[in-house]
Amino acid sequence: MTTPMQCPKCHATMQMLEGYEEAVVHRCEGCRGMWFEIMAHEQLREDAARIDLGEPVAPAEGEYFDPTAPAPATLLCPACDHYPLIHMVDPHQPHIRFESCKYCYGRFYDAGEFKDFVDDSEYDSAFDKLLKKVSAALAE
Ligand SMILES: [Zn+2]
Ligand SMILES: [Zn+2]
Repeated sequence: MTTPMQCPKCHATMQMLEGYEEAVVHRCEGCRGMWFEIMAHEQLREDAARIDLGEPVAPAEGEYFDPTAPAPATLLCPACDHYPLIHMVDPHQPHIRFESCKYCYGRFYDAGEFKDFVDDSEYDSAFDKLLKKVSAALAE
């Protein structure tokens, strides 16, 4: 019996979503934020609309990433417990801020951010394209 994962942001319980054997993802019962284990955010792109209960939020007018802004509060990795999460900016969609663990490579997306993240077809990386090709081939 493992203790349930705790949301790094609101400290509510995070439930592991069933039916994704190959990709482990937890969703927070409180803020609906999502924790993806390493690479799960890539494997679950197709399911974003189903598993992310939030809605993408349009970036505020004039909002941009300010590296000199005071650092947001340190969050701890919900998987490794005591490793601080690094605040990241999506290189293709700078309004998306997510948190990542340097140790286990898990990622935390706020509710709605994951949907926003996958809605990025214009900027698919070579790796994303390869993944799409492979999953399309497997589906045939
Ligand atoms: Zn939460
Ligand atoms: Zn971690």
